[in-house]
Amino acid sequence: MRDDVLKAVDAASGELIELAKRIHANPEVAFQEVKAAQWLSEMLERRGFKVERGVAQLPTAFRAEMSGDGARPAVAFLAEYDALPEIGHACGHNLICTAALGAGIGLAAVSARLPGKVVVLGTPAEEGGGGKVVMLQRGVFAGIDAALMFHPASYTLAMRPSLASWRLKVKFLGKAAHAASAPHEGINALDALIQMFVNIGLLRQQLREDARVHGIITYGGAAANIIPDRAEATFSIRAIDRAYATEALEKVIDCGRAAATATRAKFEFEKTKGYDAMKPNRPLGDAFARNLESLGWPIDPLPERPKMGSTDMGDVSQQIPAIHPYLIIGKDIVGHSLEFREAALTEQGFKAMLTAAKAMALTGLDVLTNPTFLKEIRAGFHPG
Ligand SMILES: [Zn+2]
Ligand SMILES: [Zn+2]
Repeated sequence: MRDDVLKAVDAASGELIELAKRIHANPEVAFQEVKAAQWLSEMLERRGFKVERGVAQLPTAFRAEMSGDGARPAVAFLAEYDALPEIGHACGHNLICTAALGAGIGLAAVSARLPGKVVVLGTPAEEGGGGKVVMLQRGVFAGIDAALMFHPASYTLAMRPSLASWRLKVKFLGKAAHAASAPHEGINALDALIQMFVNIGLLRQQLREDARVHGIITYGGAAANIIPDRAEATFSIRAIDRAYATEALEKVIDCGRAAATATRAKFEFEKTKGYDAMKPNRPLGDAFARNLESLGWPIDPLPERPKMGSTDMGDVSQQIPAIHPYLIIGKDIVGHSLEFREAALTEQGFKAMLTAAKAMALTGLDVLTNPTFLKEIRAGFHPG
């Protein structure tokens, strides 16, 4: 059956590459991925999948299914297809979605002979909005035994954690006044915000190494000759675990309070939970690593300080056994850069996409054919 799976991915490879190129050329940001969702759904339908569009009341989400003999176990391959504002597919999600389709198509080629089913989930808005979080809340992941996806990178790793995150919106309110003739009458909200950034800069040396605090000013005043009576910013606060991310968040909020005290501006904030930390399922990750190496694709050693972001796959991994491995598409490139965007449209990028599709399909085959393996996956898993 392994050969049949691999042959099916190879047979679809031309169409998958063409689709990866088309999605790359038509970048759509979070929750607006109308074309991508449509093209991916159509390709799955042409291959015999039953596709439900707009699941979880998200117009650009979908769930495609190929039933075998019975409902369980169910293996889901996750497709991301949102682009970044301004810089397009600089996270390579055009390769993520086509790899998920390739894996689904590969495993579906033998699913009629197997128990359980093959699912491909179209999960919008990973870069902001968190389609998977909404889909989890609205029950789209119910009955899934293993969730797999891949992400392009500058290295190859079967398992790596990701950061838990918080988002923070802040607002300082001051008092407008003529900036030259009566500055002493004003309360400078922008100064308060700048003070908050300075406080955070000083806080950094007392934060744990895995913590990340980064922000932008979204409003800083109307004109240079008016003391700004309002200033706003958004921040992201992250750490390897939720508890420390929350501790760091509270310290950052205190930085704002202190700035408000110093400037006599009023301070308001709104915190929202970002993504959860990724909890990779070890048996699933080990199987993926074995399958990837059997395809002749080497795996890098886990670096001492892996480069980490946050992903809504973290939330999935807290609820069901999941993996989020990485395959190299180019050396010395970083995500969210123009170089990464170029790499997502190269032969090396397409080769990584197709190899990831095969390794995921073979891992799915292990889940469907090996009850002992399924038990191992479940044994080590405790929902967070
Ligand atoms: Zn990204
Ligand atoms: Zn990404």
